[in-house]
Amino acid sequence: MSPNIIDGKAFAAKVREKVAEHTARLKSEHGITPGLAVVLVGEDPASEVYVRSKGKATVEAGMNSYEHNLPADSSEETLLELIDRLNNDPDVHGILVQLPLPDHLDSDLVINALDPAKDVDGFHISNVGLLGTGQKSMVPCTPLGCLMMLREHHGSLSGLNAVVLGRSNIVGKPMAQLLLGDSCTVTIAHSRTRDLDQVCRSADILVAAVGRPEMVPGDWVKPGATVIDVGINRIPHPEKEGKTRLVGDVDFESAAKAAGAITPVPGGVGPMTIACLLANTLTACSRAHGLAEPE
Ligand code: NDP
Repeated sequence: MSPNIIDGKAFAAKVREKVAEHTARLKSEHGITPGLAVVLVGEDPASEVYVRSKGKATVEAGMNSYEHNLPADSSEETLLELIDRLNNDPDVHGILVQLPLPDHLDSDLVINALDPAKDVDGFHISNVGLLGTGQKSMVPCTPLGCLMMLREHHGSLSGLNAVVLGRSNIVGKPMAQLLLGDSCTVTIAHSRTRDLDQVCRSADILVAAVGRPEMVPGDWVKPGATVIDVGINRIPHPEKEGKTRLVGDVDFESAAKAAGAITPVPGGVGPMTIACLLANTLTACSRAHGLAEPE
């Protein structure tokens, strides 16, 4: 790979290897196997792909994977009953409810019904509050993966100007909290931000999480900045009719010329998200058993 490309796939493989080693030790020394339950409601094809790859990665790490597929028309009561069962199951250390849920289900209600200690996505209101106040919490996987890549690349992030493009609860806001926790000067930009190009150009670290294919052009990137592209967008393939391809929220070709370092799509943030899910499950399991947490 070219020197300024941050290889998320390779970094994620290292994280997963460490998680697998630690899991094997938990088994051999304590007879404990971490377990992750994934709940999918309905048949959204993209969600089915995500759930399958999460299950496969869980098993590859030596953990138990429990998949619960509920029909799209399941009632809130049915889903809450399942969550209650999983909350009380000692073999389940992490629970992930695949979002988005069908419209008739209230995601906030469902997520807040999880035991916060098993909330490996870090979306429960208690975990959001703990993160915001700098206390030990479950940290959302995608921003955690971004932070790990940034720390690996920069060492200290202290004093750097970070711009987070996007203010969603699952990516933008927790990303900003994590960067603040590492002493960056953080700006959160969104669809109402004025002079967005100038705001982006002020960033030493630019994290794009907008869900708009290739929205950020190279001339929004300060020369030498680090660009983390969270976006996953499927667009029609320019050359192959009827085919699609994945692109990020950043125009990779022009941005890579300006950036000091940049994550590709695919192969950047995506693989780190799954690696962090496994790491969070291991952390939840260690905490549940009062054992030392993996680093
Ligand atoms: P949301 O749609 O929830 O949030 C998008 C954010 O971008 C909003 O805050 C919105 O602003 C802002 N935005 C939208 N359009 C513009 C614009 N033209 N200018 C400035 N800001 C804009 O998306 P998510 O946070 O859930 O996801 C973002 C992207 O990350 C998606 O592509 C998603 O697929 C990807 N993703 C990738 C993951 C991974 O593992 N790699 C995991 C999760 C998400 P406003 O609030 O004002 O509307």
